[in-house]
Amino acid sequence: MNFDAVSGQASNGRVSNTPSVVDRLRASESGRVPFSVEFSPPRDEAAEARLWRAVRVFERLGPAFVSMTYGAGGSTRDRTVRVTGQLAQETTLLPVAHLTAVSHSVDELRSMVGAYADRGISNILVLRGDPPGDPLGEWIKHPDGVEYAEELVRLVRDLGDFHVGVASFPEGHYRAPDLAHDTKHLVSKLRAGAEYSITQIFFDVDQYLRLRDRVAAFDPIEGAKPIIPEIMPITSLRSVRRMVELSGSKLPAALDRQLALAAGDGPEEDRAAVREIGIDLATTMCERLIAEGAPGLHFITLNFTRATAEVLERLGDKIGSAVSGPSELGSAGKEQPELGAVDVVVPVPVSGSAAPPDPGIGQVPAAAAN
Ligand SMILES: Cc1cc2nc3c(=O)[nH]c(=O)nc-3n(C[C@H](O)[C@H](O)[C@H](O)COP(=O)(O)OP(=O)(O)OC[C@H]3O[C@@H](n4cnc5c(N)ncnc54)[C@H](O)[C@@H]3O)c2cc1C
Repeated sequence: MNFDAVSGQASNGRVSNTPSVVDRLRASESGRVPFSVEFSPPRDEAAEARLWRAVRVFERLGPAFVSMTYGAGGSTRDRTVRVTGQLAQETTLLPVAHLTAVSHSVDELRSMVGAYADRGISNILVLRGDPPGDPLGEWIKHPDGVEYAEELVRLVRDLGDFHVGVASFPEGHYRAPDLAHDTKHLVSKLRAGAEYSITQIFFDVDQYLRLRDRVAAFDPIEGAKPIIPEIMPITSLRSVRRMVELSGSKLPAALDRQLALAAGDGPEEDRAAVREIGIDLATTMCERLIAEGAPGLHFITLNFTRATAEVLERLGDKIGSAVSGPSELGSAGKEQPELGAVDVVVPVPVSGSAAPPDPGIGQVPAAAAN
């Protein structure tokens, strides 16, 4: 698709031929559930090298798609566009670009969509975004921008043959006064043309199931669209606490206590003990989600691979690969020297939650995902 950012017009071109997320979910091997991963734009050369190592590892495992977060208020605009474009042009992966409305005029948003189209990207995860600096602070509309994600869904759909996904919130969005309000506006985004949603992270599968039931009860047609659960394997108590705080979601009290006990009272938490609980929990959650018919599993990786690969390995042949021919899924957690060989705690963005200052959502210690 060629896009004229000035006129805001898109004409049919090559992106209209790229598969959609929903195509990829449907095409998964029969009886197996597809997986996908979320990356964040790197902030420096070392982070970029780590991202590309992760990209090459996941490429061999065959995710249905990979998504790339967008920093609060456009803080990662150039990097998100560049790296997502490279994913489209230099890998076999299907990239989904996150796009947030906050701090942008409609002209800027159009030009972002054009930049994605120029790079052959037709799958866009449309989000409102959170205020830069304080994700939970007051949301101020750009004078020439849009107020809610629903408007941005319409804008993107009007610009061409884009496949749009949106965010959904098992616990309800933290700005929504109640679950009925939350459900109504999620359905509005789907009616506006979104083809699927990806959830905020959660740690209680019942909340995901209730969200699915709420949407189906409100509108059976929109309720049939895929709601893809987002999974974050916990590997650090400090990181997961920060993440849920920034995203406005909750860590169940019993889980918090269990993790705190494992972390111990020392100056440094016992990461191995926390990680063991986190990987077990993520695996059990995924097993139940699969049994309950989840359309896919979307993992937050923070550009690390080891924790996600380990969960995939434990899930074994329940997981489907988009790689044609044999994928390396069966040995996902085994030989990956470059994967998470180093358990460092570095500041990285987290997504699927509130928007992070740099990469994506909430400045959270990256070790959370390793
Ligand atoms: C999977 C996922 C990925 C994410 N990736 C990023 C990212 O890359 N970068 C980033 O900055 N943030 C990201 N976020 C965070 C997201 O931007 C925030 O959670 C944001 O606060 C909500 O975005 P939304 O698109 O759901 O907003 P909206 O759908 O606009 O909803 C925002 C609030 O307004 C309410 N609402 C909606 N429409 C109306 C209406 N017409 N009238 C009244 N109330 C209304 C909703 O109920 C909700 O409370 C992600 C979140 C998820 C779940």
